[in-house]
Amino acid sequence: MENKRVRLRFAPSPTGGLHMGGVRTALFSYLYAKKHGGDFILRIEDTDQTRYVNGAEEYIIAALKWCGIEPNEGVGFGDGPHAPYRQSERKELGIYAKYAKQLIDSGNAYYAFDTSEELDAMRKRLEAAKVVAPQYNSVSRQNMRNSLTLSEDEVKKLLDAGTPHVVRLKVPRNEEIRFHDIIRGWVVVNSTQVDDKVLLKSDGMPTYHLAHIVDDIEMEVSHAVRGEEWLPSAPSHVLIYRYLGMEDKMPQFAHLPLILKTDGNGKLSKRDKSGIPMFPLDWFDERTNESYVGYRESGFFPEAFVNMLAMLGWNPGTTQEIFSLDELVQAFSFERVNKSGAKFDPEKTKWFNQQYLRMKSDAELATLFAPILKEHNIVAETKFVEEVCKLVKEKAHFVSEFWANGSYFFIAPITYDADVIKKRWNEQSAAFIKEVTEAFKNLNTFTTAETEATFKATAEKLGMGPGQVMQLFRVCLSGVGGGPVLFEMVELLGKDEVVKRLETATNSIK
Ligand code: GLU
Repeated sequence: MENKRVRLRFAPSPTGGLHMGGVRTALFSYLYAKKHGGDFILRIEDTDQTRYVNGAEEYIIAALKWCGIEPNEGVGFGDGPHAPYRQSERKELGIYAKYAKQLIDSGNAYYAFDTSEELDAMRKRLEAAKVVAPQYNSVSRQNMRNSLTLSEDEVKKLLDAGTPHVVRLKVPRNEEIRFHDIIRGWVVVNSTQVDDKVLLKSDGMPTYHLAHIVDDIEMEVSHAVRGEEWLPSAPSHVLIYRYLGMEDKMPQFAHLPLILKTDGNGKLSKRDKSGIPMFPLDWFDERTNESYVGYRESGFFPEAFVNMLAMLGWNPGTTQEIFSLDELVQAFSFERVNKSGAKFDPEKTKWFNQQYLRMKSDAELATLFAPILKEHNIVAETKFVEEVCKLVKEKAHFVSEFWANGSYFFIAPITYDADVIKKRWNEQSAAFIKEVTEAFKNLNTFTTAETEATFKATAEKLGMGPGQVMQLFRVCLSGVGGGPVLFEMVELLGKDEVVKRLETATNSIK
């Protein structure tokens, strides 16, 4: 067990777009696998054909690629030694039926012929008898039609006649089931609480419970990382490994904490209204006609998204918050994943993007800003765009804000912030704007320092404090009352443009 190669799988069902909780499961598996020089596998669990959604598999692959958490084996990423990696294709290998048969032969699983009406009737009977959680188990199965209650002959007859049936796990009565979870420690459950899970369905398809165990064994998975919602099923899984005589092949479990709503009240919903996406990429659900926006399309950087996700439930034990993927690989351990739910924080999510935005070079930002400029029919020198990026990035969370906050670098204002004008435009300040325009005209070089000195000297000359005219001056240049460091903006706009804008303002502000 100790020397087992580290192999982790991400095993989503293609039942819809992969939401951020799913991406986090993939991420934690990826981090652990990479940290230990192991493998990261993508397996598609598509045994429930009724829930299959077109495009979901492609979406999962595209999302993992965008996040940079790429499996080295599996659907969409190249076959490894355990192909195929889709359960619907693996069924053809006969492995699920083989393992189910082994369980039946050893007396640990049985055939059940109950119709859905009979199952309904059982539930009603148990409810009437005030059973809190009615289930098919060691007690109730005694009154049902299965190979434990019917004679061997009857069972054979039913099977030969092709009577619809399922295969169920035979869970013992009143036995302690213990297993270790890397995040939660020892978990102890009494088998009385465990139902006789269906392993093979009437259509011959395995259920998740059987299929994932068979595949984890066959694919030599060392750690099974999954959401907390699977914790209640884990005791059944432990029993299956035991009954197959393969407890030594059982992966180590890590059940991740839930991601909670911002107020901590319940599980984060994919319909969350915080304005922050719940899906990595845009997703359209063709069954419900619902569209969900993605992190990618909302202007988040994949590094920021991944960094934020890593912090949802995990912490490095230090105050460091910004981690590249490689740094996460180095720092990650399941021991530092919390047992309790992780609260989603929309503001913090934006903050992460802002940090990554600031880390980007101006050249990189200019490249990202270019398509937005093109949309607005702006043609500008690359160097100039880079300088604009340098100034506007300070107050932005997203590149998409650059235009809203800095369009005036490319287009002279035609309107001026009315509040500022009302408050600040008067004879004296208008005279100042005229005067400073003339003073600027006389400058030979037009740097931040020189324009600022000229600005101050002019104010002084007119007996005004620079603070009295600062915002008005800004509005004359940009139309708006806020923005980047004023004289850096002045230098970037350049002498001709600044003079022109000040003259236009003087002529148009009444
Ligand atoms: N197919 C399961 C799901 O989508 C995977 C659970 C597991 O990783 O074992 O949740």
